[in-house]
Amino acid sequence: MRAWVVARPGPMSSGPLELTDERPVPEPGPGELLVKVVTCGVCRTDLHLTEGDLPPRHPRMTPGHEVVGRVVATGPGTTRFREGDRVGAAWLAGTDGTCRFCRRGDENLCPGSVYTGWDRHGGYAEYLTVADAFAHPLPAGFSDGELAPLLCAGIIGYRALVRAEVPPGGTLGIWGFGGSAHLAAQVAMAQGAQVHVFTRAPAARDLARDLGAASVQDSFDPTPVPLDSAILFAPVGTIVPAALAALDRGGTLAIAGIYLTAIPSLDYERHLFQERNLRSVTSNTRGDAQEFLTLAERLHLKVTTTPYRFGQADQALTDLAGDRVNGAAVLHME
Ligand SMILES: [Zn+2]
Ligand SMILES: [Zn+2]
Repeated sequence: MRAWVVARPGPMSSGPLELTDERPVPEPGPGELLVKVVTCGVCRTDLHLTEGDLPPRHPRMTPGHEVVGRVVATGPGTTRFREGDRVGAAWLAGTDGTCRFCRRGDENLCPGSVYTGWDRHGGYAEYLTVADAFAHPLPAGFSDGELAPLLCAGIIGYRALVRAEVPPGGTLGIWGFGGSAHLAAQVAMAQGAQVHVFTRAPAARDLARDLGAASVQDSFDPTPVPLDSAILFAPVGTIVPAALAALDRGGTLAIAGIYLTAIPSLDYERHLFQERNLRSVTSNTRGDAQEFLTLAERLHLKVTTTPYRFGQADQALTDLAGDRVNGAAVLHME
C-alpha cells in the first residue's frame, strides 16, 4: 500500500517525508480493526513530529491522527464495530487501563498511553489498524472531509476550552486561530461566552469575524476587555506573558499545544498574582471525545477545511508550517 513515512525528521524544506509503496496492508490483531482511510486531517502535531520537535518513537513512522475511514476487517475479540462501519481514529490510541490515572478517569495522563501516528502508524496511508476500544463512532451531518479535523483539532480544542473554565457569560481570549481554535470558539460562543481572537494571519482573522468573534486583533495587541479565560493555540511561548497579563483577577490560561517554544520569565505581580491560573492540556480522554462529537452534531459546528490530495501531504505540512492554511488541512484519498 502507499504510505507517507517520516524518513529524516527535520525542517519541511529538507524533505523529511517520503512516500513509499513498500509497506504491506497491516493485519488486524486481537481487538483491532483494519480501517481503509477515506480522509485524514493534518494537525500541527504531525508537523512537530515530521520536523523533529517531538522525538520520534520509532523510525519511519506514518503520521496522521485525524482519520476517517471504513472498517474492512476485524481482528478477534472486537465488539464495538463491524465491517462496513464508518469510524474515526484519533490521537489517543491506547492506554494500560490499570494505572492510578486510568483508574481515576484521567486516562489522558496514562504513562503507558500510545498515540496514533507516533507509536502506531497513522492515517497518511491507505490503511491502518485501530484498537476497537479506541475507535470513535462519527457524528451525522458532516462530510468525510469535515469529520477529520473534529477528531483532534476539535477534541483537543474542546478539552482546552473545558480546562480554561470560562464562567457563564464570561470573556474568552483565543491566541492562534486555526483548525482547533475555530471549532472551540464556536462551542464557547454557543455556551454564551464572548470570544476575542488574537492572530496575525489575515485569513484567520476573516474566519474569526465570520464565526462571530467579538473582536479580532494581532497576537501582541492589547486586549479590548479583561479576560476571564484564555486559550493559547499558537505554539509560541512568548505569547504566554501577554495572555496572562490580559487575564482578569482569577482568570485561567490553558495552553492547548503538545509543543511550545520557550516561555520567557514571568513577573509574579504582572502575570500570576490575583489568583491567575496557568494550565497545560495533555491529550484527551475518550470521554472528552464522546462529549465533543455529540456537541459537534448538536451545535452543527461549521468546519472550515482546506482539501489536499493524498499525494500532497508534504505540501499540506509545508503550508501549515508557513501559516498558509485556513481552517484545517485535510488529505483526501484519491
Ligand atoms: Zn493508565
Ligand atoms: Zn492533533
